[in-house]
Amino acid sequence: MKHVPSKNWINGEWRGASSGETFPVTNPASDEVLARVPALSPHEVDEAITSAQVAFLSWREVPARKRSDILLAISQALLARVEDFAELITAEQGKPLSEARGEVVYSANYFRWYSEEAVRVNGDIIPADTPNKRIFVLKQPVGVVAAITPWNFPVAMLARKLGAALAAGCAFIAKPAPETPLSALALAELCAHAGVPAGVFNVITGDAEMIGSHFMSSPLVRKVTFTGSTEVGKILIRQSADTVKKLTLELGGNAPFVVFGDADIEHAVEGAIFGKYRNAGQTCICVNRFLVHDSIAHAFTERLIARSKELVVGDGSEASTQIGPLITDEAAAKVTRLIDSARREGASIPLEPTPNTRGKRFISPSVITHVTPSMSIWKEEIFGPVSAIATFATDDEAISLANSTPHGLAAYVYSNNLSRALKVSEQLEYGMVGVNDTAISSVQAPFGGIKESGFGREGSKYGIDDYLVLKYLSVTMP
Ligand code: NAP
Repeated sequence: MKHVPSKNWINGEWRGASSGETFPVTNPASDEVLARVPALSPHEVDEAITSAQVAFLSWREVPARKRSDILLAISQALLARVEDFAELITAEQGKPLSEARGEVVYSANYFRWYSEEAVRVNGDIIPADTPNKRIFVLKQPVGVVAAITPWNFPVAMLARKLGAALAAGCAFIAKPAPETPLSALALAELCAHAGVPAGVFNVITGDAEMIGSHFMSSPLVRKVTFTGSTEVGKILIRQSADTVKKLTLELGGNAPFVVFGDADIEHAVEGAIFGKYRNAGQTCICVNRFLVHDSIAHAFTERLIARSKELVVGDGSEASTQIGPLITDEAAAKVTRLIDSARREGASIPLEPTPNTRGKRFISPSVITHVTPSMSIWKEEIFGPVSAIATFATDDEAISLANSTPHGLAAYVYSNNLSRALKVSEQLEYGMVGVNDTAISSVQAPFGGIKESGFGREGSKYGIDDYLVLKYLSVTMP
């Protein structure tokens, strides 16, 4: 992208921090500083909230068809600039360009989906008990929405929320992750050109705790939608109590990938490669634990090792790269710590990561076997290219092992026995289950978790409900 926005987009204007404070955004592959973005002061966050409230009062009156047209225009504008946005995502996030292109198209699909949903926010008429009474149910926009998003999908995590909010008639303030704010700022510029009025979509940057607590304490912000770690999600739940905010929380996962003895091993390994190593293992639905039936554990592991070795690690902007750098040194250190602790705790490591001359953020795939539920690598979200494998003997054991986590986002089941696959899927305590499938995220389907992976859904016909409130009118005709 030739022009990289480096100010905040507030009420239809580019604004810096009045203090002049900024922080750098760097390329995780090269350490190049891509831009410096503002660190807003508390009063500037409050001003952004106030201007969003003013914009909301007009935006909710815009006819749904007009909002739909604007959402479609955003989708089309994104599709016209896939390459531009993909380059920016790869530059600030590190993922391979091919994956970044996929993220832009996926994001455009959300705007198109919500352009279709915007015109179908239908209420109800409910029969009343008496002939002179009518009961009407209206669906209305919740109000100003604040979004806090992570770095792993800088455009898509925003698109899933923003599309639904704009369709519902809400105004929106986003605080993107400090590692990847540039894609969000570029999206704000694109949305303004596509017709989103001033103040309806704002992007602000700065200290997360300060901004988060201002969102939470403001009575004008009626909803907070968050994608990120369970740890931060729990802080936000506590903070939301004082103003009783509506929340959507898309939190961390610990996805099991259960392979039964009757599975097609080749198909399962290909699913594993996509489900484990996409974005260098840094997605919330990435496989965290492989659970493989004793009878095929050897064959599955050998094939997974062979395929893992083929993956090319490098700078995401190079065409050959399949695994880019991890986002930060801290993220790389966590992955190394989990591998080391698994080794100490008795696991075997038939495929060790190989050191990379480009630096420690470039981590090649590794495969760890003899993993058990007491190990840190079982309990923690790895968020890196490490395949941790445990085995099981019976279906009940597989289900119990798969469910032995406080998280409940995504799970995968591989079996050629349809009734086994369905029975097991129904018993898995997860919001999403892929059966012989790891490509589970699509606009038509409700994305989201249960247990400590959060609540609320994004995408599908359900996603817009998170941005609407019900009002019922009881009318007597004297
Ligand atoms: P994170 O540390 O929770 O950060 C997410 C966002 O929250 C960032 O913008 C961060 O800003 C902000 N934040 C941190 N502390 C905050 C506070 N006290 N108040 C308000 N905001 C605060 O998560 P991450 O490491 O960026 O992202 C990875 C996590 O996201 C993983 O657990 C992954 O599973 C999860 N995730 C879930 C989904 C899903 O749909 N369920 C999708 C993608 C990712 P700062 O960085 O400035 O602190």
